[in-house]
Amino acid sequence: VRRLPDWLQAQAVRRPRQRAIEATTGALTYEELLYAALSCAASLYDQGLREGQRAAILLKDSFAHVIALHALIQLGAILVPLNWRLSAAELAYQVKDCDAQLLICDAHTKSLADEVNQIYDFPAGVIESSKLRWDARGGSRGVFKSDIDLTAPHCIVYTSGTTGRPKGAIITYQNHWWSAMGSVLQLGLRLDERWLVPMPLFHVGGMGVLMRSLIYGTTVVAHNGFDVERVDRALAHERITLASLVPAMLQRLLEKRNEPYPDTLRAVLLGGGPAPKPLLERALGLRIPINQSYGLTESNTQVATLMAEDALAKVGSSGKPLANVRLAIYSADGPTSAPHVEGEILVQSPTVITGYFNRPEATEDAFRDGWLHTGDIGAFDEDGFLYVLDRRTDLIVSGGENVYPAEVESALLRLDGVLDAGVVAKTDTVWGQVPVAFVVLRDQGLLTDETEARWRTQLREALAHYKIPQAFYSVPSLPRNASGKLLRRELREWVKTRC
Ligand code: AMP
Ligand code: MG
Ligand code: MG
Repeated sequence: VRRLPDWLQAQAVRRPRQRAIEATTGALTYEELLYAALSCAASLYDQGLREGQRAAILLKDSFAHVIALHALIQLGAILVPLNWRLSAAELAYQVKDCDAQLLICDAHTKSLADEVNQIYDFPAGVIESSKLRWDARGGSRGVFKSDIDLTAPHCIVYTSGTTGRPKGAIITYQNHWWSAMGSVLQLGLRLDERWLVPMPLFHVGGMGVLMRSLIYGTTVVAHNGFDVERVDRALAHERITLASLVPAMLQRLLEKRNEPYPDTLRAVLLGGGPAPKPLLERALGLRIPINQSYGLTESNTQVATLMAEDALAKVGSSGKPLANVRLAIYSADGPTSAPHVEGEILVQSPTVITGYFNRPEATEDAFRDGWLHTGDIGAFDEDGFLYVLDRRTDLIVSGGENVYPAEVESALLRLDGVLDAGVVAKTDTVWGQVPVAFVVLRDQGLLTDETEARWRTQLREALAHYKIPQAFYSVPSLPRNASGKLLRRELREWVKTRC
């Protein structure tokens, strides 16, 4: 089977009056969402967008994000969701890489969108979502496509490489379908499901919830970013059944919470990065049904999940592979599932992407011998539970966002007076990790507050906020090997002893 009836059109027939989306600035049923998507698709068509072309979206408004996502599906255009935390230069790289035809922004992101447009001239321009027509009460012009080609790309999601140069992961409709199936076989389904996503919708974690709920015909409750009070209120009073959180969000929630949430909350999927054990223990103490999950952009989210019933016995584990996933550890003897062998985690699943956009070498590198090579180090225990131990690379994950040391170092080296720079992670109770920098100053002088403040301003032009080192330490020289390669292992020791 290569084609399925269009998912949104099917739900508009199957469950027309079921809530599809409840967002900060609006709510729609499946029937209303279909009309809104069709009229929005018509207005994008008028802007010059055609089937198969890439359309970037830079939206903080989750309601507009959802409508735009569905409009692009109806039109058959490929969604490129952009991270509004990035700088204009970083975003311009991504839209140029995929030849985006236009950019949809909102009032919050308009000035950033205009900056991007000055670097990369969008053929069909920048459009503010308020200028797009959407009419939830019908009267739209025609149906664009009536079915879904499962092998067609749905979106391109940029994820950073070890060198810091982002790669576009091509996620197909088939990837979404199988993710929805794997997840539902693990978590089960209620027809009155209400899935809360306070995570950004531009990452696969947030997008996955939108696509699964569409495939199931259930409700998404989407916030515009993470607001701890609002999330707490939703979990306590809005009959949320499922929630997707990153560890930093759970941490913030539990700083305030002293009592359990209602029993209707049946699973909290926790993923995107390692969760500190004390946090998990505290959550379990409050009877919050935490389901620690492991996944990555290249596997279109969740490939392993620890069920709440195992949470206490296996604290720190990311659980077992989903029903349609095969996991293995890369060892000297090839892929193995033997216990206590540490090595790179490998994934086989129909949810795994087939490659990166226009990057044959990177694709070949990540997908060898039929396995996705994740770059994460892990091991199984004697009961087959997966433990994610570390990154093979030096990636820093700060609040669910990837920070590549090499990228931050090159920005630091562009600063006045910086001779050499090394960036590593420091453990942080809120963000999991934050980047810190060791710098060698040109004139061996002191690092003054004034200099640091000036650096921060300059770095802000090139880097997203979360990539800017939390602290700078002036050192006489950096540890390098014979060929000049920075020894980050030693820097990590420095963090432990000096910071
Ligand atoms: P991304 O490719 O940006 O989606 O980030 C995926 C990365 O987040 C993985 O490759 C892991 O390094 C990390 N990650 C995700 N889930 C977990 C987990 N349960 N435990 C530890 N690290 C995780
Ligand atoms: Mg990654
Ligand atoms: Mg991430």
